[in-house]
Amino acid sequence: MTKKKIITRFPPSPTGHLHVGGARTALFNWLYARHTKGEFVLRIEDTDRERSTKESTDSILEALKWLGIDWDHGPYFQSERLDIYQKYAQKLINTGLAYYCSCSPEEVTAMRKSAMKAGQNPKYDGTCREKGLSPGPNLVIRFKCPVSGVTMLPDIVKGHITIQNTELDDFVIQRTDQTPTYNFAVVVDDITMKINTIIRGDDHISNTPKQIQLYHALGHPLPDYAHVPMVLGHDRVRLSKRHGAASIIAYREMGYLPEALINYLVRLGWSHGDQEFFTRAELIENFNLENIGNSPGIFDSAKLTALNADHIKKTPLTELSTLLLPYLEKTGLAVNADTKLKNIIKTLINRSKTLEEMAAGALFYFADSISYDKKAAKFLKPAIKEALELLKKELEKLNDFEPENVEQTFQYVMEQTKLKLGKIAQPMRAALTGKTASPGIFEIMEILGKEKVLARMDAAIMHCV
Ligand code: GLU
Repeated sequence: MTKKKIITRFPPSPTGHLHVGGARTALFNWLYARHTKGEFVLRIEDTDRERSTKESTDSILEALKWLGIDWDHGPYFQSERLDIYQKYAQKLINTGLAYYCSCSPEEVTAMRKSAMKAGQNPKYDGTCREKGLSPGPNLVIRFKCPVSGVTMLPDIVKGHITIQNTELDDFVIQRTDQTPTYNFAVVVDDITMKINTIIRGDDHISNTPKQIQLYHALGHPLPDYAHVPMVLGHDRVRLSKRHGAASIIAYREMGYLPEALINYLVRLGWSHGDQEFFTRAELIENFNLENIGNSPGIFDSAKLTALNADHIKKTPLTELSTLLLPYLEKTGLAVNADTKLKNIIKTLINRSKTLEEMAAGALFYFADSISYDKKAAKFLKPAIKEALELLKKELEKLNDFEPENVEQTFQYVMEQTKLKLGKIAQPMRAALTGKTASPGIFEIMEILGKEKVLARMDAAIMHCV
């Protein structure tokens, strides 16, 4: 028997930016499709016209592209498929599995209230179920849900779930304006797009029995379901902006690498032994549904930042220099991804947790003049003036500003002044960078070159009063 081709999907509602939870869902579906050499479908669920916006759609697509999550089909837009949903609703009417209903919203609210009073779920009471109403204005279409028996929900993550059909009711599948409801559109789409594996947040699990009943009614086999526990904040409440969980695009702005984000996102619900660091290729190689956990992932931004630092260290210099350019540009620096920039990055690669931090750390290399922060200024005092002057005089003599020669010059000045290296290096660091922490002083001097070093020393000596 040939194995079926896996077809997964990501169906965001375009009502805001792509956030951590949605991105994880997209990633799981994408990875599973790539792992199995299947296909991944992107569908924009924009039937809620009031809340859906083009800006959100654009932003979601941009975030997915940035994460490197590419799709084989779509993006499909539900708003462009209304005739398909109507056709399927008609199919159910024709087979007697759906019906027109003329109950007003007020009447339905009253039914729900009285069901609740009677200790039942808030349900539609079936008033129009056997009326055989014909289509007309202000009528909805309801699905004729079985009133007895059970709905079986086989789930790869949760195991088998059984729901009593008495819990369900005849839910609306098409509104008075002829648009489909969420549960109906999703099933029609998943059937027509040949989706056979649905990986989504377990907040959808209450919808799944209704969707399963629609599959049965349309005579279609069920997809495989994997409902993944929600991502929670450190306080174990569902993740939201309150927890500092920004949109995915905001992480790009802050200088995170897409590789680090997908690595972090995948670990919020999936594991492979105790491995924490994954390349994209390793994820595609190893991702499976069996190792999706059944406890919620807790979002920890410190962990994400640490992973980002690890991914920065593993990124080739040429790639990093291109990636860094926009962050340098944001600070007002227009430079090229040349050898100089690569050498600069070499000095920063182990000290930068984000590209934003790396760009900030690179600024002093390019600055025309240096301003000293408070702590650094303390090192530029009269007591060190003479030593700096001597060092400058000796450095000036060097024809070749090689690190070896520079180090020897330092050695000479240390001997002459009876000062230890730290006593000279720290004022030099202040002079060259304006800060008290920076890459190694000799590395810096090599990149800055003789002229810049001497000019900065001049300014620092003037400061030593
Ligand atoms: N559009 C739904 C959402 O954004 C997803 C529906 C589904 O996965 O079935 O939550």
